Amino acid sequence: MIALSLAEIAAVVGGQTQDIPDPSVQVTGPVVRDSREVVPGSLFAAFVGERVDGHDFAAAVVEAGAVAVLASRPVGEPAIVVEDVQTALGALARHVVRRLGATLVALTGSAGKTSTKDLIAQVLRHKAPTVFTPGSLNNEIGLPLTALSATEETQFLVLEMGARGIGHIRYLTGLTPPKIGLVLNVGTAHIGEFGGREQIAQAKGEIVEGLPEDGAAILNADDPLVRAMAPRTKAKVVLFGESAEADVRAENVRLTDSGQPSFRLHTPSGACDVTMRLYGEHHVSNALAAAAVAHELGMSAEEIATALSEAGTLSRWRMEVTERPDGVTIVNDAYNANPESMRAALRALAAMGKGRRTWAVLGKMAELGDEALAEHDAVGRLAVRLNVSKLVAVGGIEASWLQLGAYNEGSWGEESVHVSDAQAAIDLLRSELRPGDVVLVKASRSVGLESVAQALVETA
Ligand code: ATP
Ligand code: MG
Repeated sequence: MIALSLAEIAAVVGGQTQDIPDPSVQVTGPVVRDSREVVPGSLFAAFVGERVDGHDFAAAVVEAGAVAVLASRPVGEPAIVVEDVQTALGALARHVVRRLGATLVALTGSAGKTSTKDLIAQVLRHKAPTVFTPGSLNNEIGLPLTALSATEETQFLVLEMGARGIGHIRYLTGLTPPKIGLVLNVGTAHIGEFGGREQIAQAKGEIVEGLPEDGAAILNADDPLVRAMAPRTKAKVVLFGESAEADVRAENVRLTDSGQPSFRLHTPSGACDVTMRLYGEHHVSNALAAAAVAHELGMSAEEIATALSEAGTLSRWRMEVTERPDGVTIVNDAYNANPESMRAALRALAAMGKGRRTWAVLGKMAELGDEALAEHDAVGRLAVRLNVSKLVAVGGIEASWLQLGAYNEGSWGEESVHVSDAQAAIDLLRSELRPGDVVLVKASRSVGLESVAQALVETA
C-alpha cells in the first residue's frame, strides 16, 4: 500500500492511538486480517470471528513485524483503537484510493465475476500496472483489503463486488468509487436471500448508479435484466454480447477440437481473431466483458485479442485441465455450477473428447427453486445428445433427475450411474478409467466435487 503514518491512519479512521511510542512511524503495508500474512511494515486488522478473535494475536503479529493493530479494544501492543474495525478499514480504503492515481474498475454479476476479473486483469496488465481482487474476496472486508494493496505505481485497480442483498454494492462503491462499472448477468445465485430476480437486478445495478459522467457502464446486451440497467446511470453505456446491437461483440463463435472458444472480436475501433486458452463457451461472454473494459481504457482490438488469447486461469477449480501421465484428461470445474455453465462445460467436454471416451461426473445445481427438476433433467438429456460416453450422477435427488433426463432422452441404462457421494464416485472412476478418457467434474459449491477431481489427478 502507499506508506501512511500511524497518526495519519488514526486521523482518517477516527481512532485513538494506544501504546504507540512514535505515531510518525509508517505502515508500508500490506494491511492484513490473517496473522499468518503479517510481514514487517504491516497493519494487522483484528476482527472478532465466530471461532477466533484477532485481538488474541496482537503480540504475535507485532513480534512478526506488524507496525500496529487496528483494533476495537486496547491490546497491550501498539494499536489504533476504533469503534468498528470494518468501518475503519473501509474509511482507510476510501482515503487511499482517493490519493491513488489509479482508474477503478468494478464488476458484479451472478456468475463469472472471478473469471472475468482475472481476464480483465490479465488484459489490462499488458498496458499498465494492475492490482486486482485475489480469488473471490469481494465483500465488505476483502474489497478494502484489496484496494489497500494498491501502490503508487498502480494504474488500474480491478475490484470484484459481491452482493447478498439490496444496498451491499452501494456500500462497496461508496468505499472505492469506480470509473468503470460492469454487470455480467443476473441469474439465480442467492435468489432465496434476495426474493427474486428483479431484486437481484436491483441490487447488482447499484454498481452503475454512482458512476461519473465521464465513466462507463458496461452492460451485457444479451441479458435483458442487465440491459435494463442503462437508465440508472449518467455514465456512457457500452454494450457487450453476441447480439448485433452490442458495441463489443463476438462473431463466428466456435469451439476448437480441444474445447477452447474461438471467435472474431469486434470493437468500435476494429476487429481481431481470438482463440482462448480457457475452456468452455461461457468464457466468450466473460472475454467480451473484459474486452469492453480494456477498449474503454484505450487498448486496441489487436492488443486486447492478443492478451485474451494468452490469458489463463488464475483461480482454482474453474475448468482446470490436467493431463495425467497415463493419457487421462481431468477437467476440474467443481468450483460451482448453474444451468448455463453446466451446458457450456458439457459442450467443452464433447469437443475435447472427440474420438475419446468421455465421462461427465455431475452433481446438483443449487438454488434453482421450482426450476430444479426441469433444469437437471435438461442437463441429463444434453449429455446424451452430445454423445457423452458415461454420466456419473453424484448425490441425492438432483442426481436422480440428471439420470432420469439421460434415461428419457436416450434410453440410457448402464451408460449412466447414480452414486451417493464423492467417495463412491472416486472408487468407481479409479477402477473404470482407461488411458485416453476425458473426465469432467462439476457441481454446485456445496457438493464439494473438487475432492473427486483431486483424487483422480493424483491417481496416475
Ligand atoms: P462467486 O459468487 O462464488 O464469487 P463468481 O461470480 O466469481 O462466483 P466464477 O468464480 O468466475 O464466478 O465462476 C463460478 C462458476 O460459474 C464457474 O465454475 C463457471 O462454471 C460458471 N461461470 C463462469 N462464467 C460464467 C458465465 N458468464 N455465465 C454462466 N456461468 C459462468
Ligand atoms: Mg468470485
